Amino acid sequence: MLFTGTNVFSQKYKKIHNAAVLVDTHNDFPSASIEKKVSFDDDLSGKTHSDLARMRAGGVDVQIFSIFCGPEQEQPYAFANREIDSVYEWARRAPMRMTIVKTPGELRRAIKEKRLAAMLGVEGGHMIEDKIENLDALYVRGVRYLTLTWNNSTSWATSAADETTKGDSLPHKGLTDLGKKIVERMNELGMLIDISHNGEQTFWDVINLTKKPIIASHSSVWNFCHHRRNLKDDQIKAIAKNGGVIHLNFYAGFLDSTYERKAASLIAKYKPEIDSLVAHGRQPDYAAIMTMEKYKDETSSIQPPLSLLLDHLDYIVKLVGVDYVGLGSDFDGIEAGPKELNGVQDFPLITKALIERGYSKKDIRKILGENFLRVFEANQL
Ligand SMILES: [Zn+2]
Repeated sequence: MLFTGTNVFSQKYKKIHNAAVLVDTHNDFPSASIEKKVSFDDDLSGKTHSDLARMRAGGVDVQIFSIFCGPEQEQPYAFANREIDSVYEWARRAPMRMTIVKTPGELRRAIKEKRLAAMLGVEGGHMIEDKIENLDALYVRGVRYLTLTWNNSTSWATSAADETTKGDSLPHKGLTDLGKKIVERMNELGMLIDISHNGEQTFWDVINLTKKPIIASHSSVWNFCHHRRNLKDDQIKAIAKNGGVIHLNFYAGFLDSTYERKAASLIAKYKPEIDSLVAHGRQPDYAAIMTMEKYKDETSSIQPPLSLLLDHLDYIVKLVGVDYVGLGSDFDGIEAGPKELNGVQDFPLITKALIERGYSKKDIRKILGENFLRVFEANQL
């Protein structure tokens, strides 16, 4: 990690932040780069949550990039490979500042060399197109987690969205025989199983089957915000028992149960403007995000405070201990997080807040990254 200037080093929280390994398990920049036609090595302040220079400024050591396409995308496996190509291309263009890592050893070496350790996670089992050989090929290219489903179910695992809205009309619920084979193969390969977006039945099928610790790459706590993307107490306890880690999502709508209602009324207010963007060829979701970004003051007035993210974190620590929580920002996949966090450059504010809440240096190191490293290493055995 690197900070410029001398006076900042005198600030205790930055020193602690600087010394810790910071891992963010979920960043959607590969998809944002396609939507916004930008590259990771550009200066993108004000345009995106992330770029290479700001990751350095924010002290990010390890970034897992989300490889993603929606279910409407044709040939999703080929699409995933093209997104992986672009992450490799960024690393090729800035070899002194960034490298793709596939093993815990490579990861530690990259940190020592002060290069961003970039990792790959595929968000959505549909991208393997029901073929275990595609899973194997993605592993070879460096993919180290697979989110078993995105909001859409696959033929072999059901999503939280489908389990909660379609219920008994689903042809199957949880993991099918193929789904179980995929989980077993991931265990053999040492590819982490990510249960974010998965339905509860899929979650329990995974927990009962996996021989390795799992992750939630970007999910928050149901108790604070009753959203199907968040984890209930019994799930949090089961992940702790499994030795896994829950990486908290920064999305305002997963932290604060009132946010989505407030955002909907903001979107309604600017509907004519959003409709005109859509008429000019923008995706509806993206047109809404662009409009919310344009009216920054109004958007910021409905964003929750950073303290709410810390409340989610404290809750997990009190329920199961400090060894089972980490950070999975979802930056560049969300229109808003806590109002203090405007992008990857603001990660040090989380360390500051942890110190203010009385967390020890050792605990802070676990939360920022060591808990993830433990699970990554355990999956290689
Ligand atoms: Zn997601």
